[in-house]
Amino acid sequence: MLRILIIFTLIFSIYLTQSFAQQQTRKKIPPEKPKLIIGIIVDQMRYDYISRYWDKFDTKGFKRLIGEGAFCKNANFDYIFTQTAVGHATISTGALPAVHGIVSNTWYNRLKEQRIYCVGDDKAKTTGSESEDAGKKSPKNLITTTTGDELKLASNGKSKVIAISLKDRAAILSAGHAADAAYWFDEQTGNFVTSSYYLDSLPKWVRKFNKEKNPDLYLNRVWSTLRPIEEYTESIADNNPFETGIKGQITFPYNLAEIREEKKYDLLKTVPFGNSLTKDFTINAIVNEELGVDDFTDLLIVSLSATDYIGHSYGPTSVENEDTYLRLDEEIAHFLSFIDNQIGKENCLVYLTADHGVAHSPKYLESQHIPAGFFNDNYAITLLKTYLNAIYGYGEWVSEYIDQQIYLNRNLIEDSKLSLDEFQKRTAQFFIQFTGVANAMTATNLENSDYSNGIFSKMKNNYNQNRSGDILINLEPNWMEDSFSATNHNSPYAYDTHVPLIWYGWKVNRKTITRRVSMTEIAPTIATFLNMPFPNGCLSEPIIEITE
Ligand code: ZN
Ligand code: ZN
Ligand code: ZN
Repeated sequence: MLRILIIFTLIFSIYLTQSFAQQQTRKKIPPEKPKLIIGIIVDQMRYDYISRYWDKFDTKGFKRLIGEGAFCKNANFDYIFTQTAVGHATISTGALPAVHGIVSNTWYNRLKEQRIYCVGDDKAKTTGSESEDAGKKSPKNLITTTTGDELKLASNGKSKVIAISLKDRAAILSAGHAADAAYWFDEQTGNFVTSSYYLDSLPKWVRKFNKEKNPDLYLNRVWSTLRPIEEYTESIADNNPFETGIKGQITFPYNLAEIREEKKYDLLKTVPFGNSLTKDFTINAIVNEELGVDDFTDLLIVSLSATDYIGHSYGPTSVENEDTYLRLDEEIAHFLSFIDNQIGKENCLVYLTADHGVAHSPKYLESQHIPAGFFNDNYAITLLKTYLNAIYGYGEWVSEYIDQQIYLNRNLIEDSKLSLDEFQKRTAQFFIQFTGVANAMTATNLENSDYSNGIFSKMKNNYNQNRSGDILINLEPNWMEDSFSATNHNSPYAYDTHVPLIWYGWKVNRKTITRRVSMTEIAPTIATFLNMPFPNGCLSEPIIEITE
C-alpha cells in the first residue's frame, strides 16, 4: 500500500513539475535583444507562391511564420538586374547595387580587360576539399559593410556571424567581410567548403558532417511527388512542352541514382534534397557553434538554392516547382520546431525572404496568348559589331556583353578620337531596334540625369560608374535572354522584384504591412532592433511598422 502511495506521489509530482515547466514556456519573455537572428533566403521565391500553394501548406511551416509573424506583402527590389549576387548583397548591406558594387553576378573590368565574378578571388584557396576552384572566393568585391560586419564591430567580435548556402555567392555576400565563416557546396566532392579568406581549416563539426557523406544518401533517392500527383491542382500537367527538365527528363519519378553522373554532386543542387542538405548543415552549425547561447547576438543566414535551379528548369506552373515548395514547407516546419526546442522562439528573430523572383516560362505564356519571348543576345551582338564596323571602320569596338550590359572598347574609341557619348548613343539606338528590347540606356545619360521613379530609376540604382556597362539593356516584360532554361529572371518587373518578406519570433507581433517596402529596409530594421549602426552604404529607413 505504502509503495503504491509513493509511486502515486512521485507520478503526481512529476506531472506538477511538467505543467509548471509548460506554463513557464508560455510566459517566456523575450530578452532586450534577440540572442540569435536567422535570415532565410529562398532563392527565386516569387511572392505569389505563398497564395498559390497556401491551401496545401501545413499549419507549422509557412502558415505558422505568417500566422505568428509580420508579413510585408509588397516588398520589392528597386533595381533592374535581379540576380542572385545582387539580391543577397542588397539584403545584407541595405544598400543599392550602385553603392554596394555587386551590379551583376559577373561584370567586366576595363582596366584588367577581364570578366569579374562577383565573389572571385585568385588569392584565396579552398578550405575543406581538393577542388582548386571551389574556394577561390572572398567578399573583396563587396564595397560596403553588411549587417554581420556591423554586428562584429558593435560587439568587438563577440557576436558570431555565419552564412550557409549551396551557392558561394549567396553565402559570401550574405556573410560579408568580418564574418566567422561562409560555407558553400563543392559540387565536385559533395563537401561543404569555405575559403582561406575565412578559415585555414574546417571546424571539427564541419569535417565530421562532410565525412558522413549525406549527399550520397540523398542522391540515392528517387524524387517522387510528396502527395498523389493528381492533387497538384495548383500546377499544369507534369508532362508539358514548357519544361527543360533535368538532363531532358521532365516527368516524375526522378531516379537520381540513374540520372547522376558518377562521383559528381551537381545534381543535388537541382532537386529539393539540396535544400534538405542545407537545412541539415544549418542545424549542425547552430548546435556546434553554440549560436544564440550567450548574450552577444549571433547572426546566421541560410540561403536555399535548389528552388532557383528547379525554377529555371520547370517554371512557376510546374508540378516539380509545387512539390519543391511543399517539401520546403515541411523543412521550415521542422526548422521552426527545432528553434522552439533549441533556442526558444522568444530568443530568436527570424526573417524569411528571397533574392529575386522569376518570370513564367515564355513558351507557356505564348500558349496563353500573353506577349513573351526569348531574346537572342548572341545574334544581336554579332549584328551590332557588323554595324559598328560599317560606321567606324573595322575594330574590336565591343569589349564584352554580359547579362544585358554592353561594354564598349573605350581605349579604341578614345584613340580613334571619337566621342564616347556619341558612340554610346549610336549603339543604344541600334540596339533598341531588336524585337524584345524595351530600353537601351547609355551610361552617360545615367550619370547626368536623376530619375525619381520608373524603369530608368531602377537602372540608375543598379548603375556603378566603375563596374557597369556603357549601355544597359532592359527587355520587354516576359522577355529574357535565351539561356536554354525554361525561364529566367533579370528584369525590373514585378514578377522578378516582388518577393515575400516575413518577420517572426522574438518581439515581433502578428501584423500585415501592405505598403511598398524596399528590400534595402531589411538591414536598417535589424540595426534598429540591435541599437547598432546601419551598414555603411545603407541609405534606407527601417520598417517602422515593425520596429516601433
Ligand atoms: Zn537567385
Ligand atoms: Zn514535369
Ligand atoms: Zn536563377
